[in-house]
Amino acid sequence: MSDCIFCKIARGEIPSKKVYEDDELFAFHDIHPVAPVHFMLIPKLHVASLLEADDSHIALLGRMLVTAPKLARQQGLDNGFRTVINTGKGGGQEVFHLHIHIIGGGLIPSMMRRN
Ligand code: 5GP
Ligand code: ZN
Repeated sequence: MSDCIFCKIARGEIPSKKVYEDDELFAFHDIHPVAPVHFMLIPKLHVASLLEADDSHIALLGRMLVTAPKLARQQGLDNGFRTVINTGKGGGQEVFHLHIHIIGGGLIPSMMRRN
């Protein structure tokens, strides 16, 4: 997608703090980190969100999930990390190019509080 900000980042047309790149994936630090380590892993292929993912993306999504912990360890997150995939407007997604947030290095609160 020519006007997609994350496609442009993956192509190097918009600068980013790159974490990783291979033939199918690209990872870069979030411009507004919510923790000491906060980067995103994206497919180079433009998939708008998980709502647009289908069976043709199974291998790609698997590759993303297997790559995420390798990159997290390289970023010093030996003790664990949080992965977040916001999906669609209802999921709070702001950039419509599928991405996994990888977050850690600080106090990560329990995600759901039940009273
Ligand atoms: P979403 O809410 O769609 O899951 O997350 C989008 C993320 O992209 C946000 O955390 C935001 O800070 C990050 N972001 C938006 N624009 C840019 C950018 O131009 N460069 C970088 N590195 N991150 C961005
Ligand atoms: Zn895109």
